[in-house]
Amino acid sequence: MKHLPDFIQKLINEFDKLPGIGPKTSTRLVFDLLHRREDIQEFAKSLNEAYEKVHFCPQCFNLTDTGLCNICRDPQRDQSIICVIAHNQDIEAIERTNEFTGTYHLLNGLLGPLEGITPDKLKIKELLERVKKNNIKEIILALDQSMEGGATTMYLLKILADKNIVVSQLARGIPMGANIEYTDEVTLSSALKNRK
Ligand SMILES: [Zn+2]
Repeated sequence: MKHLPDFIQKLINEFDKLPGIGPKTSTRLVFDLLHRREDIQEFAKSLNEAYEKVHFCPQCFNLTDTGLCNICRDPQRDQSIICVIAHNQDIEAIERTNEFTGTYHLLNGLLGPLEGITPDKLKIKELLERVKKNNIKEIILALDQSMEGGATTMYLLKILADKNIVVSQLARGIPMGANIEYTDEVTLSSALKNRK
């Protein structure tokens, strides 16, 4: 947009980089924000604080503010069961079911050869390290029912096959194409309970 000052265009471009936001929405968000002057400062402060403080759990790669995340350092959680998920929001979805008392491992995405997302781009090596070092009894693969989710599940099943641990998957019932994050609690809870 030629008539806009550069700094506004730059801000629009930053919003545009976020998932699920196209150029129209990012423009609308920026205009709205700029008209709410009192909120801009708070927003900028929060972003800065998040940037300064955010860390990733060295064990499971969940977001944390320091050291191990709340889940990994909780003595009530079973450290011998790992639920493998693709995105941070999947942890939230599974926690809402109150059905899972193990720990997580965040892959940080799914395999997608077309986009150049190969196994080395995901936290797979780190998962194998955890399996080797800790006394892991079970790994639950809770990945999206998509092409990429399926490919990642297949890949993990293959490399975990000779590790002498139980590897299970969420039971069917999660619709084809569905993301874990948008699956309702009842479906997700029963998919966890009936895992195989
Ligand atoms: Zn953790």
